[in-house]
Amino acid sequence: MSALLAGKTALVLGVANRWSIAWAIAQAFQREGAKVILTYQGERQQKTVEELAAELGGAVCFSCDVTQEADLTTLHDRLAASGAPLDVLVHSIAFANREDLARPFLETSRDGFALAQDVSAYSLVSVSRAVAPLMTNGGSIMSLTYLGSQRVVTNYNVMGVAKASLEAATRYLAADLGAKNIRVNAISAGPIKTASARGIKDFSTVLDAVASRAPLKRNCEPAEVADTAVFLASNLGRGVTGNTIYVDAGFQIVGL
Ligand code: NAP
Repeated sequence: MSALLAGKTALVLGVANRWSIAWAIAQAFQREGAKVILTYQGERQQKTVEELAAELGGAVCFSCDVTQEADLTTLHDRLAASGAPLDVLVHSIAFANREDLARPFLETSRDGFALAQDVSAYSLVSVSRAVAPLMTNGGSIMSLTYLGSQRVVTNYNVMGVAKASLEAATRYLAADLGAKNIRVNAISAGPIKTASARGIKDFSTVLDAVASRAPLKRNCEPAEVADTAVFLASNLGRGVTGNTIYVDAGFQIVGL
């Protein structure tokens, strides 16, 4: 099969290490012929992400903290300076205070609520605004979400509300950007062991529950999420926008 993303440039936000979902996506994009650009949050991740970028044949990578307006301006300017259009944006970023993922949702603080919304949902809006003008040939924007947006998942709490916001933002952005042939979708991944997931209390219980109850009788793999990202980034996904696509071994259909 020919490379599905040949000639495309993809910006991938959220690679922290080789367990990150964003890393699986970056690898799949490179396999399909895309030029990949990575960003990381700050100096703490710089060395790790530069090493991973080297594995992608020396992908460009630079720092971008999505809560900092100056970083978003720099992001736009650095991409614009290349002179090439941007085709794909992957938003694979989330954060909430650890204590808000352990105590009852009722106890969520105002600051903790706002922080989770800012990093995990509003950043999709602000990053899209920064890069959409560079998608002069149309484009595909996608983010990563989780079932806790739609159902109550124990200990997901403030992050579930942030993911609901992210999914709604996906629909509004799809409506705004559709006339420019920019598609906006979310991939709802099943639970995957990553650094972020370790912040969720009793996460291994969630993995065990999904493996026993999901139609496919297992958890999903990062590579499966990444292949759905390839579909959305490629011409194969050209009719799909405003959607949340579940890549979760079918768990979301299960009732009793
Ligand atoms: P991860 O490797 O820890 O990725 C999360 C990324 O968000 C990290 O690179 C982190 O950077 C970055 N980030 C946090 N605050 C940021 C900020 N202010 N500016 C820029 N980057 C920031 O974990 P992951 O599981 O792959 O998460 C990726 C996405 O998938 C998230 O949206 C998550 O909610 C979603 N998701 C995960 C699962 C799962 O079970 N793992 C399931 C469904 C959806 P630092 O490490 O430097 O903080």
